[in-house]
Amino acid sequence: MSSMNIPQSSFPRVIIIGGGFGGIALAKKLAKKDVQVVLLDKHNYHNFQPLLYQVSTGGLEPDSIAYPIRKVLQGYPNFYFRLAEVLEVDTSMRRLQTNIGEIQYDYLVVATGSRTNFFGNKNIAEKGMAMKTIPQSLNLRSLILENFEQALLTDDLHERDALMNFVIVGGGPTGVELAGALAEIKKGILPKDYPDLDTRRAQINLVQGGSRILPAMSAVASTKAERFLERLGVNVWKGIRVTDYDGKLVSTNTDTSFEACTLVWAAGVQAVCLDGLDSKDFLCRGNRLRVNEFHQVDGFEEIFAIGDVAQMESEPYPHGHPMMAQPAIQQGQNLGENLVRMIEGKDLKPFIYRDKGSMATVGRNKAVVDLPRFKFQGVFAWFVWMFVHLYFLIGFRNRVVVFINWVYNYIRFDREARLIIRPFKKQYQVNGKDKVTI
Ligand SMILES: Cc1cc2nc3c(=O)[nH]c(=O)nc-3n(C[C@H](O)[C@H](O)[C@H](O)COP(=O)(O)OP(=O)(O)OC[C@H]3O[C@@H](n4cnc5c(N)ncnc54)[C@H](O)[C@@H]3O)c2cc1C
Repeated sequence: MSSMNIPQSSFPRVIIIGGGFGGIALAKKLAKKDVQVVLLDKHNYHNFQPLLYQVSTGGLEPDSIAYPIRKVLQGYPNFYFRLAEVLEVDTSMRRLQTNIGEIQYDYLVVATGSRTNFFGNKNIAEKGMAMKTIPQSLNLRSLILENFEQALLTDDLHERDALMNFVIVGGGPTGVELAGALAEIKKGILPKDYPDLDTRRAQINLVQGGSRILPAMSAVASTKAERFLERLGVNVWKGIRVTDYDGKLVSTNTDTSFEACTLVWAAGVQAVCLDGLDSKDFLCRGNRLRVNEFHQVDGFEEIFAIGDVAQMESEPYPHGHPMMAQPAIQQGQNLGENLVRMIEGKDLKPFIYRDKGSMATVGRNKAVVDLPRFKFQGVFAWFVWMFVHLYFLIGFRNRVVVFINWVYNYIRFDREARLIIRPFKKQYQVNGKDKVTI
């Protein structure tokens, strides 16, 4: 027995760190094979990150986008889940240090995903909001609602405006989707909830450093998304960078500044790398681990990385695959097959990414979709966006709940999860460690 009460087995032990898109896809592939699978995650649920913005804006309850990891692999033999945070990898002893003890591995798969990257800006990390986890999204939801409650109480017009203003930094899908959702709330919900507040003064500013929003999508998707946002009343600022934030004043690299009590940072992520597996030999930009076409981390036969944390450089993807759900899922599936082949002494199949396209929604009846052969925008794109997200959500109950919520919200122009369940508490990270201030 290891210190985690996992029995020794005649099968090789594969430890997967992370029950995200990549880790779950891999575990499913290995579940009925002749290997002992140990999945470690610091949360006991899988987080469907693409819908976090709907939790932040009261469109969905958090439990409809989270799914118990234990349930995913219920009933599979040779499968063990432990709620554990991995602290360090001892590659020479093939051993992991975790907050619940040590464990040996035969094969190790790092699928730890990514975290928000504030690019070293301490003020923004401390005062701005990230939206990468469910607690962070709930925190943002509380902050938004508490600011409106606060706005009701002040006579100072400047302060009231700042409490109602938003700055979203980063014009990728997360920033665009959040800005669109906030604009819909401003139009459809705030005037009814706060009739004694002039909510028309609330400003939603989307700030993008580059020359266009949705830079990873086609030019037509960018242009159309920008038009959708402007139609919803979002101010789209391009070519300016946010440089500082004191909790109220947002400074940029130009003369433009904003007074806003909510700043959401959606301008970058960096991979979550682990102590002991952080050598310059294989650590790339953004902390990703350089891997070969079989997901093996440079210099190791038995250590693999998949998903956001892995950088597999190839001709079409010189900086690795995009940090999105599809590459993580496909890599998990490919590695699952290869691990079995490796154990059986067969040749490995190199990973080839099949790009299924990308999409973003701006709001009701408004989305942009880039498929490898077709690009389309508007109502049909919005239906496609909804169908794809429902399809990839894990769990039948979650799909039903999300679907019913969407139909209800669509018919009633409403978002009834606008609840302050837990008061806003600022939580931020310094060097990957959680810090909390009120
Ligand atoms: C707001 C938002 C919106 C997004 N929208 C889209 C979208 O529309 N489409 C799309 O394709 N992609 C989207 N993405 C990106 C997508 O979610 C990621 O690319 C994907 O989750 C990566 O999968 P992964 O398996 O690498 O990591 P993750 O899914 O992030 O999973 C990593 C897991 O590792 C665990 N973990 C981390 N460190 C440790 C540790 N030390 N010990 C134990 N466990 C650990 C975490 O708890 C987590 O469960 C979005 C991301 C965000 C944040």
